[in-house]
Amino acid sequence: MKLGLVVNDVFTESPGYTTTRLAVAALQLGHEVWEMGVGDLAYDPDDSIRARARTVPRKKYKTTEGYLKDLHGKNAVTERISIDELDVVMLRNDPASDAIRYPNYVPFEELAREYIEGIEQGIYDVRVCERCAGYFDLNRTEGIFSRPADLTGFICMPCAESMTAREYFERYLRVE
Ligand SMILES: [Zn+2]
Repeated sequence: MKLGLVVNDVFTESPGYTTTRLAVAALQLGHEVWEMGVGDLAYDPDDSIRARARTVPRKKYKTTEGYLKDLHGKNAVTERISIDELDVVMLRNDPASDAIRYPNYVPFEELAREYIEGIEQGIYDVRVCERCAGYFDLNRTEGIFSRPADLTGFICMPCAESMTAREYFERYLRVE
């Protein structure tokens, strides 16, 4: 099976964490294990949730230390995957600790539930700010769009207000 583990931040995972032991045990049983942080998740314009996920190059690890060394290091395999590709998604993140690190962050459990119940009805429209990578509900948050015609390239208001003219120019106006 292709297993997805959603954690607060892949890089703050430690060898003693249950999630890490779970990952090593799942690999041992022949499963494919992908880890992703909540900040790696994005709700794409085509209505699917994707994540910048990481996995390890080897099929088996003797220790959780060895596993994490590969997961965090240059041997890791990084890919942007769709949540739909995964057979199982385990939410191992702690939204309480994310509340501090991601302003206006929508907890993934909530996002997933709303995705099923309400996104199709247009009551919930989540975007990721291109600048701070925070999650915002368009129905509750002000922001600007670099491409207003199709409402893409969302920038949250605090980011928009702190953006310099030079940064705006280089990000959106300069033609390469
Ligand atoms: Zn922002």
